[in-house]
Amino acid sequence: MDQQPVYRKTRIAPTPSGYLHLGNVLSFAITAALAEKTGAKILLRIDDLDRERVQPNYVQDIFDTLNFLDIPWHEGPRNFDEYEREWSQVHRMDMYRDALQTLKENDAVFACNCSRAQIRNINTDDTYPATCLHQNIPLDAENISWRLKTDINEPITVKNISGDSTPATLPANMPYFVIRKKDGYPAYQLTSVLDDLLYGIDLIVRGADLWASTLAQQYLAPKIDAHSFNDIVFFHHPLLMSSGQAKLSKSSGATSVHYLRNEGRSPADIFTAAAALLGKAEPISTWQQLAALALPMF
Ligand SMILES: [Zn+2]
Repeated sequence: MDQQPVYRKTRIAPTPSGYLHLGNVLSFAITAALAEKTGAKILLRIDDLDRERVQPNYVQDIFDTLNFLDIPWHEGPRNFDEYEREWSQVHRMDMYRDALQTLKENDAVFACNCSRAQIRNINTDDTYPATCLHQNIPLDAENISWRLKTDINEPITVKNISGDSTPATLPANMPYFVIRKKDGYPAYQLTSVLDDLLYGIDLIVRGADLWASTLAQQYLAPKIDAHSFNDIVFFHHPLLMSSGQAKLSKSSGATSVHYLRNEGRSPADIFTAAAALLGKAEPISTWQQLAALALPMF
């Protein structure tokens, strides 16, 4: 790249369904580093519509972790009160419902009453077997999800931060992905697209594990009149793996920032622990150093 691209705004978008872990720290560090490099502001967005798993102490943990690690953000809630009063996704339900209504009016969705166990009985990798596609279950029935009528061959293009584009199609295990959950709340793919457009995001930095979600969101956007979502530039960063090569999960205590802080560890200890999971045995004292370690090209 002769000239660095310049972006307006990126975001960090944690889900408060568990304590943040070292993988989140790496993701935040990389996002903050790319924002600094490209002049982008950072929005803090808290994705809190998983009503069964979201807890206030996990929301508070997001603020505590960012402040403790000195990771900056320029827009969004500064504390729990601001989050609750103004920034929770609950305040944007009308916008999400309008999009769901658009999909309904365009006959782009169908109702599904399958349980997770029923789906897994047919496909052990949870690929939805289209059981309800032609069942004509009413969209206003109780305890049903809405699924998108997808065409697995429809071309998708993802714009990369390197300046090129990746042509793709929906992943084979994501046909008919859920757009409204059984509890009536909009699904992550829909809220994420609408929020990114609402807040003027033009750079999305996320872990490589969200590549399938990126494809789903690119696929969905034009169907909810969110065409300019397709102009957003993406960067998918490598993931931290535990010693067993498994993706870090929110339940594993030893990699939770909350746990490490309670153990008296310093920010430098936490950055160093994240670096160790990248296979780098050297002391790290700032998020900038951690990001540089993960992404030597930046
Ligand atoms: Zn079904």
